[in-house]
Amino acid sequence: MRVDYHIHTKLCGHADGEMEEYVEQAIAAGLDEMGFSDHMPMEVWGRHDPTLTMRLQDMIEYHDRVKELRHWYRDRIRIKFGIEADYVPGKEREIGDFLREWNFDYVIGSVHFLGDWGFDDPRYMEGYERRGVDNVYYAFFKVIRMSAESGLFDIIGHADLVKKFGHRPERDLKPEFDDLAASFARSGVAVEINTSGLRKPVGEIYPHPALVRACREYGVPVIATSDAHTPGDVGRDLHLARKLAVDSGHSRSFTLTGRKRDIHYDLQP
Ligand code: ZN
Ligand code: FE
Ligand code: FE
Ligand code: ZN
Repeated sequence: MRVDYHIHTKLCGHADGEMEEYVEQAIAAGLDEMGFSDHMPMEVWGRHDPTLTMRLQDMIEYHDRVKELRHWYRDRIRIKFGIEADYVPGKEREIGDFLREWNFDYVIGSVHFLGDWGFDDPRYMEGYERRGVDNVYYAFFKVIRMSAESGLFDIIGHADLVKKFGHRPERDLKPEFDDLAASFARSGVAVEINTSGLRKPVGEIYPHPALVRACREYGVPVIATSDAHTPGDVGRDLHLARKLAVDSGHSRSFTLTGRKRDIHYDLQP
């Protein structure tokens, strides 16, 4: 079984191609199932930037298009309706209300902001030097833990996105990874193994192999994703993500329907 659940659309303002092209690529890549997970409208938590996320007014079109494609392609691939939702401390109620309004098959929870700072945006990279790389790592992982414990999400997105531009902390992250995996296990979330980091300055899958191993030790499920923002990236390098999972001791992955894990299947690189 081959699945890719982290796929964007041009509705977010920074991805390209038509939704059909993403589906065609998923079929060409031999996937059994795919899910669209475009960026949740920022208006949900009080900001507005049409180059970063969908707009609230896009939601009906997004939902309709996924349902339409699911029907058109029903004999060739299963298509799920997901979303990548920002976790913003203090906005849990607003985010929760939005997520309940739509019948998503799954929700990927991601941290792209520390306060007002979009730390994964190349335009604001000087923030790492100004705040100190260790402080940024500490702050990021704290918010990641809060995102898991919020209970809002099914899958934790790119759990060490803070490494995107290659900044490295002084301190050893192993204890941090143990804490994270314990928190993920307590909260019942899964973790994605996201290959988009291979296409970023850091040149590594998210998250670090030591965190993938810690997830195994604590019984946290994993799922391989591409985070495609262009049709050609659907399914990209997923064999490497699955290999990382298997090498770390994971043997199973899962699908989600109506926010419940339903099919459990053997992971094969
Ligand atoms: Zn994006
Ligand atoms: Fe993201
Ligand atoms: Fe994404
Ligand atoms: Zn992402």
